[in-house]
Amino acid sequence: MDVRIPEIPASYDAYRDELRAFIAKHVPTLEMKPRSGLRVPDTAEDVEAQRNFVRALHDAGYRQDRFQAHDGDPFEQRILQQALSTVPEAAMGNPLVAGALKLFGTDDQKAKYLPPISRGDHIWSQLFSEPNAGSDLSNLKTRADLDGDVYVVNGQKVWTTWAQWSDYGYLLARTEPTPGPAGITAFVLDMKLPGVDVRPLREITGTTDFNEVFLTDVRVPVTDVIGQPGNGWKVTNMSLAMERSGIGGGGGGAVVGELIDAARLHNRRGRSAIEADDVRQGLARLAARSRIHRAIGHKIATRAAKGKLSVSDAPIGKIWFGELNLAMCEFALRLQGPRSALTEGDPAAYLDGVWQDRFLYARAWTIAGGSNEIMRNMIAERGLGLPKEPRGS
Ligand SMILES: Cc1cc2nc3c(=O)[nH]c(=O)nc-3n(C[C@H](O)[C@H](O)[C@H](O)COP(=O)(O)OP(=O)(O)OC[C@H]3O[C@@H](n4cnc5c(N)ncnc54)[C@H](O)[C@@H]3O)c2cc1C
Repeated sequence: MDVRIPEIPASYDAYRDELRAFIAKHVPTLEMKPRSGLRVPDTAEDVEAQRNFVRALHDAGYRQDRFQAHDGDPFEQRILQQALSTVPEAAMGNPLVAGALKLFGTDDQKAKYLPPISRGDHIWSQLFSEPNAGSDLSNLKTRADLDGDVYVVNGQKVWTTWAQWSDYGYLLARTEPTPGPAGITAFVLDMKLPGVDVRPLREITGTTDFNEVFLTDVRVPVTDVIGQPGNGWKVTNMSLAMERSGIGGGGGGAVVGELIDAARLHNRRGRSAIEADDVRQGLARLAARSRIHRAIGHKIATRAAKGKLSVSDAPIGKIWFGELNLAMCEFALRLQGPRSALTEGDPAAYLDGVWQDRFLYARAWTIAGGSNEIMRNMIAERGLGLPKEPRGS
């Protein structure tokens, strides 16, 4: 299997060390408890602390290519991405729009929006999903009607991560009379415009990561169209593919070493659980799946580096990660027996309920960026050329 990506030369060790030292020195301590997944702060103070951290990184020269008009040194970029992937404090908003702007934006849009994303000055969210348009996104109903040099936008979005703290939104709305994908246009939405009403949602995990966003007669300048009117589907598919490869390649936090620790600590009929055959079999199975996950990640990275990503690559990575992460969380809860019912804040909860929180969030990874069922449809239809599933009219 071709899974080779060029080794990072030893001459980059100093860059990596300096970056790690910089992160250790500047990373803020947030009021928000560290948790798995895409979690969003509850307080403006935490958001400001995150902004200041991202600014400090940027001003010290640590800038990610995906938010820049020009590409930097590829090895430095890999080191930067690896280092930041384990620092949730550096992840603010949903900046997928950067890819759309780089590929489809005008020079003015790139100059206006990319640098502030990179510096953490602007937080973005993604306004795609609607109550009846998630998997079936091309069914979206939000309308944008041309009125002189503005579009007047009306509709409702949902599951909008980070919207409560966002300065801008990457919006999809229907501008053309044509139904389905051909009628959709991508926009930059200034979230402070009159008529944008953000209503936070409280989730089972106890945090407020998502919002509903109601749009009533919002006047968006025509200069804020990304790409061409009616071309939004193409713009979107490109950014969604990026999101899926990000999820598939990501760590997600559930690791076999922590499960082994948990198995040592918990008892079964008076003996350490790690001595039970089924526990050791289960751990070995998860370790093997974890190794395969790493190989898939390397393969995707290799193909991406060579510009040879296939339509199935990112979906396979996303499905594998989502299912493995969920299996690990379920295993961790089984190890805890009745204690698995105890959650954060209960003095008897194992590790203050960290696995319970991961378990509650684990379903989200099987849905975010396109559910695993939809990913399988993509692999079957577009990757393997199998007959298409029947679709409603
Ligand atoms: C953590 C997280 C963050 C998110 N952030 C954002 C965001 O910032 N902005 C945004 O716009 N959206 C966001 N979403 C929403 C996400 O894009 C949708 O949840 C997703 O597209 C699925 O849509 P839905 O929830 O409407 O489910 P539905 O589409 O209603 O699906 C319900 C179930 O039916 C299955 N299903 C549907 N169609 C088919 C089919 N054809 N074949 C087989 N099975 C099918 C699905 O797999 C799923 O299990 C986020 C979701 C999550 C979990």
